[in-house]
Amino acid sequence: MRITFHGAAQTVTGSQHLLEINGYKLLLECGLYQGKRSEAFQRNRHFPFDPKELDAVILSHAHIDHSGNLPNLIKKGYHKSIYATPATSHLANIMLMDSGHIHESDANYVNKKRRKKGLEPIDPLYTLEDAAEVAQHFLPTSYNQSFYPIPGVEAQLVEAGHILGSAAIILDIEEKKAYKNNRFRLWFSGDIGRRDLPLIRDPIMPENSDYLMMECTYGDKNHRNPREAYNELRQVVSRTVDRGGKVIIPAFAVGRTQELVYDLHIMMDNGEIPKVPVFVDSPLAVNATDIFRSHPECFDQETRAFIAKDKHKAALGFELLTYTRSVEESKALNKRKYPMVIISASGMAEAGRILHHLKNNIKDARNTILIVSWQAPNTLGRRLADREQEVRIFGETYHRKAEIATIGGLSAHAGQSLLLEYAQSTQERIKQVYLVHGEERGAAPLMEKMKQSNIENVFFPNLHTSVEI
Ligand SMILES: [Zn+2]
Repeated sequence: MRITFHGAAQTVTGSQHLLEINGYKLLLECGLYQGKRSEAFQRNRHFPFDPKELDAVILSHAHIDHSGNLPNLIKKGYHKSIYATPATSHLANIMLMDSGHIHESDANYVNKKRRKKGLEPIDPLYTLEDAAEVAQHFLPTSYNQSFYPIPGVEAQLVEAGHILGSAAIILDIEEKKAYKNNRFRLWFSGDIGRRDLPLIRDPIMPENSDYLMMECTYGDKNHRNPREAYNELRQVVSRTVDRGGKVIIPAFAVGRTQELVYDLHIMMDNGEIPKVPVFVDSPLAVNATDIFRSHPECFDQETRAFIAKDKHKAALGFELLTYTRSVEESKALNKRKYPMVIISASGMAEAGRILHHLKNNIKDARNTILIVSWQAPNTLGRRLADREQEVRIFGETYHRKAEIATIGGLSAHAGQSLLLEYAQSTQERIKQVYLVHGEERGAAPLMEKMKQSNIENVFFPNLHTSVEI
């Protein structure tokens, strides 16, 4: 069997791993690469394999860096199934359509400028219509149920505790050999969540695995307690409102947005922050909230109990909270001068309505741009998190006066200790660990820790590197 790491290799974006077993090709994930525009343009448009030749795709969860290039895969001829949990299938459908819409409007915006300069227009990576095509390929597969994506492979999806519907992928492989068939278990972690995250269950640990492909986004550190993140959020909102400013939060529409809304609701209820309007400016976040509510099978015990008391629905919708769907409503927010909180996508400020909010608010020193998640290198979000004074938005340079605040403790990714525990739980049988979905600065300290725990065979593959098992 051969594994080729075609994405999320020494970086955390564009997750894509090709497995070749018994003459069949199985793709784990088909993520969108986010980074430098020119590089992303090339990487996302050209697959390093022929999509027509793939036999199956398995998706760990709906985040765009794992699912976001599926429409293009299908456009380029992939015609078979995509296995994912039911919640992931539903979330991915709306997220991909949103992504298609963003690619279209970005291309339109850029083309307007190109036309003025006499340049040829560019095509969007894919359209909303292309994205809608993906839905018919999903084969919703419940947690802990065996399925057979290609001959010789029995697969299962188990709880990853990262976002609603997220899964690790277990592959029990029987490879045909001339004399004796080779049997082993390969465990692909997907993105590993944390214990005690709101709404969802805790991640399952990978016991009895021979090979482990695991993420290492935060291999270098442990997150702060979620309680600290709560307090920081409270402080940021309070001081911004005190000086009459707006809090602008680029946030992933699925997961993070719901958590922020929930926390802000509690804070206002407790009188911990002033009562100011909160706008969730993302049609996707509204749809995602509906999907959260329709998949109670993914909730943890605490949330089930909460719903049973009929409080949860209210937690994701309160008096001062407005979900804006239309562009007109979104634009109207720019004219309002009073303090408010605007939560908008995309989470790394690469596309979507957040760009307009940033453009309109970045020059006012009363405002705060609040970064609540990890930002990929070369994205606008990373430049903001790095507190650069001049940033480019829609091709124009803006001198930043707004405060930048960052909150780390909200992460939906495992920190160093849990990652180590994850790898250690395989120790009985483990032959090799492959670290993916992480940068050098995350992988190197984790490898060191693993070594100290006698996990010696750890490999941190480069992009497009192949390994034979
Ligand atoms: Zn993720």
